[in-house]
Amino acid sequence: MENINKIMKILSKHFNYQKRTTLNRMRKNKENAFKILISCLLSLRARDENTEKVSQKLFDIADTPEKILKLSDKKLEKIIYSSGHYRKKTRVLKHVSKEILKRFNGKIPETREELLSIKGIGPKTANIVLNFAFNQDVLPVDTHCHRIPNRLDWLKTKTPEKTEIELMKILPKKYWKEFNGIFVLFGRTICQPVSPWCSKCPVEKYCKRIGVKRSR
Ligand code: SF4
Repeated sequence: MENINKIMKILSKHFNYQKRTTLNRMRKNKENAFKILISCLLSLRARDENTEKVSQKLFDIADTPEKILKLSDKKLEKIIYSSGHYRKKTRVLKHVSKEILKRFNGKIPETREELLSIKGIGPKTANIVLNFAFNQDVLPVDTHCHRIPNRLDWLKTKTPEKTEIELMKILPKKYWKEFNGIFVLFGRTICQPVSPWCSKCPVEKYCKRIGVKRSR
């Protein structure tokens, strides 16, 4: 626990997550819930800079479930083309918009169960919406949030889902809101997947580097 507190304090200083990831910049209030959900779906397997551009392009044309459903598949595919997997994402965006209108009266649900009941929304996306839009104490865990705590020897887990469960036990609640933003930035810039920059790492002296075979 002491090690976790030290590391979180150092990383919080190093990474101004609120300004630097697209989704964190949208973190404001419930009004943004639909946009946060759509941006999160667009961000899957896409670069952050790109997600911001594509999201903005889409929201200039369609920023509600009704407006998204009014777009033809062809038009929507064209708008979101550069985020990759554009055909699949078009299907997901349309289905999610339809479900929100039909089952939830156009309002984004505020529980994990309801969000997960919509096909196309997985645990990470659900937690991003709950945390970023509704300010709930949940931990959105993506690949960076899974890989780095394992390297730091905070836990030993094989999947992001297991990591989420273990992190909820060991990470002090005061860090839950910032955790995702900080670890995403940390994972993209320093603790990268294949060969992390341990020589530049601000928490190197606290890290056990579990499973790290190659570093710079
Ligand atoms: S020392 Fe290396 S492996 Fe450990 S957190 Fe830093 S970059 Fe990642």
